[in-house]
Amino acid sequence: MLKRIQKQKDNHGSIAVPIYEGAAFEFDSAEEMEEAFLGKSGKHTYSRISNPTVEAFELNIQQISGAKNVLAVSSGMAAISNVFMTLASSGSNIVTSPHLFGNTFSLFLFTLKAFGVEVRFCNLLDEEEVKSRIDDKTCAVFTEIITNPHMEVVDLQSLASIAHSKNVPFIVDSTIVPWPEFCASNFDIDIEVVSSTKYLSGGGTTIGGLILDHENFDWSKSLRLQELAKSKGPKAFIHKLRAEIIRNTGAYMSPHTAYMQNLGLETLSLRFQKSSGTCKQLAEYLETVPGIVSVNYTGLVDNPFYTISRKQFGDRPGSMLTFCMKDKEACYAFINKLKIIKRATNLFDNCSLIIHPLSTIYGPLADEYKRMVDVPDNLLRLSVGLEDFEELKNDILQAL
Ligand SMILES: *Cc1c(COP(=O)(O)O)cnc(C)c1O
Repeated sequence: MLKRIQKQKDNHGSIAVPIYEGAAFEFDSAEEMEEAFLGKSGKHTYSRISNPTVEAFELNIQQISGAKNVLAVSSGMAAISNVFMTLASSGSNIVTSPHLFGNTFSLFLFTLKAFGVEVRFCNLLDEEEVKSRIDDKTCAVFTEIITNPHMEVVDLQSLASIAHSKNVPFIVDSTIVPWPEFCASNFDIDIEVVSSTKYLSGGGTTIGGLILDHENFDWSKSLRLQELAKSKGPKAFIHKLRAEIIRNTGAYMSPHTAYMQNLGLETLSLRFQKSSGTCKQLAEYLETVPGIVSVNYTGLVDNPFYTISRKQFGDRPGSMLTFCMKDKEACYAFINKLKIIKRATNLFDNCSLIIHPLSTIYGPLADEYKRMVDVPDNLLRLSVGLEDFEELKNDILQAL
């Protein structure tokens, strides 16, 4: 399954993808230079635009995800912001749920608002409501495939159909379940964004993000890209993103990050088998523990999203779960006593991590916005790593 792709054989025959850490690339002639700058030869010119190490990572991601085009960027947030800088414009709107990763919520509500882009929060589980919020100024319908930390799962195929029936692209953040467990092209998804900081970095080593274009949308219907679609057709989105947006925002991935995450990619499926298996075991175990009020993991048979989660993600819906204790004080007392599980943000490190989301990720939000995101005060989020089940179980037991 694993192929270690490099666009061309390394000069020295290095088997590992070398780190090309340089800023610029030299040419033999002015003519060759012109060709490269016009994008005609595929040669690299400057590492803000493209780089051999990053390109190798992009090609590997393309292979495992099935996407037609992949762009690697400096963080998950850079992936999301660059997608919307490509698609949104003043006067346009984004239809999404308020149940979002904290910075995505803040990007939509505060940052993009200053540029005249409106966010329309609605309940994405209510299809009639979604239909009623989309209009001819909607530039995208956006969702996380399993919302963090609410753990809601929308029917992706239905939402894609609704968006497409209104000529709107459907964009998902698929950070929570890695490929090939999750395959966006099965659900008619147009653009996928991923925080590669999580599963891919293989041990929380580096911050990175990915934009995956499935070339599924007819861009002649997009407000912003219809002109470009006349010449570029299905490549209109990736062309705008690569030739203009990423160069101007300067958010391209660094070669060192690409090296680390390429390495992470090679062990992704092994690590995910272990961590997601332990996560499910822990979810089942936590349901039986006194002091734990409720457990939220969509792989549990009694979870309200079990059926749709199984259909979309199989029996391994990620290595993250949330659970509720009596109150915030009980949560704090519990996490302060943990010895193996680390008190930290981030997801899918090789070490298990725990956090009280409301007081940290959502902590800086004013009360009115905290009410919108609706994260309970007695909720903890656990990201499960590669430790053995027994070890984690015993740590939890001694902390209770
Ligand atoms: C972490 C995360 C992000 C942001 O990614 P960064 O790499 O930290 O910028 C976006 N979406 C989800 C679902 C995440 O978990």
